Amino acid sequence: VLKGTGHGALPPMLEQYVQLRDAHPDYLLLFQCGDFYETFGEDAERAARLMGLHLTHKSSKDFSTPMAGLPIRAADAHIEKLLSQGVRVAVADQMEEPSSGLVDRKVTQLLTPGTVTEERLLSADENFLAAVATGDGYALALLDLSTGEFRCAAFGTRAALYDDLSRWRAREVLLAPELSGNAALLADFQGRFPVMLSQASFDEDAARQELTLTLGDLPASLSSSALIRACGAVLAYARSTQQGRLEMVRRLSRYEPGAQLRLNDWALRALEVFAPQTVSSAPGAESTLIGALSETRSAGGRRRLRAWLRSPLRDGVSISARQGAVASLLAAPDIRHGVRALLYRAHDLERLSARVATRRAGPREVAALARTLELLPDAAALLEGQDGLLANLRNRLGGLPEVVALIRAALVDEPPIRSGEGGLIREGFHSHLDGLRGESLGHRAWIAELELSERIRSGIPNLKVGYNSVFGYYLEVSSSHLSKVPADYRQVATLKDRSRFTRPDLREHEREIARLDGAADRLEAEVYTELREQLSQHAEALSEAAGAVSELDVLASLAEIAAERGWVRPVTTEGALHLRQARHPVVERSVGGGFVPNDAELHAERRTLIITGPNMAGKSTYLRTVALCALLHQIGSFVPADAAELPLFDAIHTRIGASDDLAGGRSTFMVEMSELADILHGATRQSLVILDEVGRGTSTLDGQAIAQAALEGLHATGAYTLFATHYFELTRLEGQLPGLLNLHVAAEEDSQLSGGGLTFYHQVMPGAAAQSYGVEVARLAGLPQGVTARAASLLAGLNAQGDDGALSRELAALDLGRVTPMGALELLQKWQRAARGEG
Ligand code: ADP
Repeated sequence: VLKGTGHGALPPMLEQYVQLRDAHPDYLLLFQCGDFYETFGEDAERAARLMGLHLTHKSSKDFSTPMAGLPIRAADAHIEKLLSQGVRVAVADQMEEPSSGLVDRKVTQLLTPGTVTEERLLSADENFLAAVATGDGYALALLDLSTGEFRCAAFGTRAALYDDLSRWRAREVLLAPELSGNAALLADFQGRFPVMLSQASFDEDAARQELTLTLGDLPASLSSSALIRACGAVLAYARSTQQGRLEMVRRLSRYEPGAQLRLNDWALRALEVFAPQTVSSAPGAESTLIGALSETRSAGGRRRLRAWLRSPLRDGVSISARQGAVASLLAAPDIRHGVRALLYRAHDLERLSARVATRRAGPREVAALARTLELLPDAAALLEGQDGLLANLRNRLGGLPEVVALIRAALVDEPPIRSGEGGLIREGFHSHLDGLRGESLGHRAWIAELELSERIRSGIPNLKVGYNSVFGYYLEVSSSHLSKVPADYRQVATLKDRSRFTRPDLREHEREIARLDGAADRLEAEVYTELREQLSQHAEALSEAAGAVSELDVLASLAEIAAERGWVRPVTTEGALHLRQARHPVVERSVGGGFVPNDAELHAERRTLIITGPNMAGKSTYLRTVALCALLHQIGSFVPADAAELPLFDAIHTRIGASDDLAGGRSTFMVEMSELADILHGATRQSLVILDEVGRGTSTLDGQAIAQAALEGLHATGAYTLFATHYFELTRLEGQLPGLLNLHVAAEEDSQLSGGGLTFYHQVMPGAAAQSYGVEVARLAGLPQGVTARAASLLAGLNAQGDDGALSRELAALDLGRVTPMGALELLQKWQRAARGEG
C-alpha cells in the first residue's frame, strides 16, 4: 500500500502522486508522466483489472511498487471504459515542461458518469445526475450538465419517487445521508436502481448558497427544505467536477409528476418504448417504439423525443398545440421537407450552447455553432405565416445574426482544434495581431529573398536556404563550391558532401520571427478567450434557439411519419376510446404490408375486455396496440389507425409476459405479483391497464384464482382494462360483472394439414374463443408427436371431468329402483371411461 509520509520515504514523484490521490479519495487518479498516464500501488492493480492494462513495477534501489500506464493518445477510450464501470476518474497533468527536477502537476479534470461534458465521452442521449433527499415527502433533483437541463420534483411517497426516477435513467445518484445511512432503504434503492451512488453534501445552508450562486436567487418553487437540499447537492457536486464552472445551468424547472401520464419502468419495458424486452430480438431490427419513431434529424431532436416519451402530457391544450403543429407540417410537405433538410445540417445546438455558456467551446465548436445558427433564419422563413406552436417556434428561432457576424468576423472558416497554435483569428479582426503577423511576414520575405541575392553575391549557383528544427535557418553550400563562401558566413554543420552556414543577420531575422510568432499566438489565444467571453453573453438566447430547433425537429419528424405511414390525428375525448383499424407501430413495420388492423372500443359500459385465443394469435400485439396509441396521443403525435378517439389517461399500467427479473434474484412469480400489487394500488378510473397472461408463474389453479381475483379487483377500480388470458374459465365472468366483455383473436384449425395445424387471422372478434388450442400450438412448436397425442387424450379426459355437471345430472335422474345390476355396471364403466379420457 502506497502511503505518503512527507519524510522522504517515497521518491519525490510518488510522494506527489500520493498527495494528489489522497486529495481526491473517491477517484482513480491518472498521473501524467510524459506521453503516458500512470497509476501506482494498489491503484495500479485496480486500473490494470478495470482497463485490461499490463501491470509492471517501478523500482529503484530500495523501492518497488506496481505500476500500470496507458498512452495519453488512447486515454479517451480507457476513460470511457472506467466511467461505464461506474468509476470516477481524476486526471493529473504536467503543468510545465519536464526538466531535471520534479515536474509540477495538477488535477485538471474530474470525470464521473453523471457529470461528463466532454462530447467524446458522451452518447447523444441525455445524461442525468440525480439527487434524492427526504423530509416532508421525497425530493428529486436532476441535472444534465451536457445541456444545462435542471429539474426537480416533490413526491408524497417513496413509490411515486421510484416510479418517476426510473424514467430518467440517471447515470449517477446522490443520496442524502438520511437515506444512505439507512441500511434497509439503501438496499431497497440499490436493488431497484443499479447505478452509481456518490457522496455529496446535503447541508441546507450550503445548498441555499449554492443555488443562489448558480441561479442568481433562490427559486420560489423550492418550497421545502428537502427540495432545496436535493437541488443544492446536485449543483455543488457538479460544480466540484467542473472546476467551479456551472454557467450552463441557468434555470430550474419544477415539474408536477401528477401532471403527466404515469408510465413506470415496467410499463416502459413492457411496451418496449426505449429498449426491446427480449434479448433475442434480431439485432438491427429496431423493435422499440423510439426506433419506430426515429425520424429526427438532430441530436437535440432525438433527446427531445425521448423526453416527450418519458413525460407524456395530460393536458389537452398542450397536446392539441403539438397536434396542430404536426397537422400543419403534414399538410405542407414543402415546408416539412425544407425544415428537415436544414435540420440535417445542424450540429448539436443544445450542447454547443452549454459549452459556450461555460466558455469551454473550442474553435471548431464555435465554427460549428456559426454554421448551425446560419440555418435558423431559413428555417424561420419556412415557418412564415404559420400559427400556434409553429409561430412560437419561429419567433424563438429568430436566429442570432449578431452572434453569427461576430464569429464570422473573428474566426477563420476552418479553424484548428485548439487555440494558441496560430491560424485561428481572421485577418482584419484585430489590428495589433495583424501588425505582429505582418512584421513576421516581412522577416520571412527577407529570408525568402536571401537565396537569390546570396547566389548572385557569392557566385554559387546551387546555394540554398533551408530550415530544420535543430539549427533553424541555414545557408547550404555543396563541397565543390566551398572556396567561394563569403567571409561573413559562420559554419554550423558539415555533412558528407555539403556544409551549412549561418550569418548574424539571418539569426537576427530568425529570432524576430520566433518572437513575433510567439507573441501572435499568445495574443490570438487572448483574442479567442475574449471571443468566448462575448459569446457566453448570448448563452440564454442560444439555449432558447436550441430548444426551438429540437422541438421543431420532433414535430417535423412526427409529421413525416404520419405522412409516410398514414397515421391520423386523434380526437381527445372525455372518456370513450375508439380506434378504427389500429395498428401496432413497430410490428406494422416488421411484418410489412401483412399487418391486420383491428378496432378497439372502450367506454363506461364496456371497460373490461377479456381476450382469449391461441398462443401466437396476436393477443399481446392487440393489447400493446391500444396502449401505444394512447401513449402516442399523449405526446401529441398522430396514431397508427384510420380514425382515433382517445381520452386523457392518468397512467398506463402493464403486466406483460413472463419477464424474469433474474438480476434481481426474484422469481418470475414474485415479480408478477409485485407488479400486480402496484397496479391494483395505483389504477384509477382514468387509467389504462394492460394485463397479459397473469398467473402464468404458478400452478394452474393458483394462477387461475389469482387471475380472477385480480380481474375483479381491477374491475372495481373502474380502470379501462384489457386482459389477455389462457384461463378459459375467466370468460364466464361475462354477464356477472357489468361492463365486462369477451373478445377473441380468430384462428382456425386446419384439418387439411397433416398432423393438424392452425391458421392465424390476427383478427379480433366479439365473444370468447371456442377453445384454447394449447395442444395445437405445442404441435406447431415441434413437440414430438407422441407427446402431443398424449396431451390431447389427457385434455379430453380433463374436459370430460370438467363436464361433471352432465354426470351429476345423469346420476340424479337415475332411478335406482329400476336399474339392473348389469345396467349399473355398464353405467359405471361408461363414466370411468369418460373420466380416463378414453371416451
Ligand atoms: P399472443 O399474445 O396471442 O401469443 P402475439 O401478439 O405475441 O400473440 O403475436 C404473435 C405474432 O403474430 C407477432 O409476433 C406478430 O408477428 C404476429 N401478429 C400479431 N398480431 C398481428 C396482426 N394484427 N397482424 C399481423 N401479424 C400479427
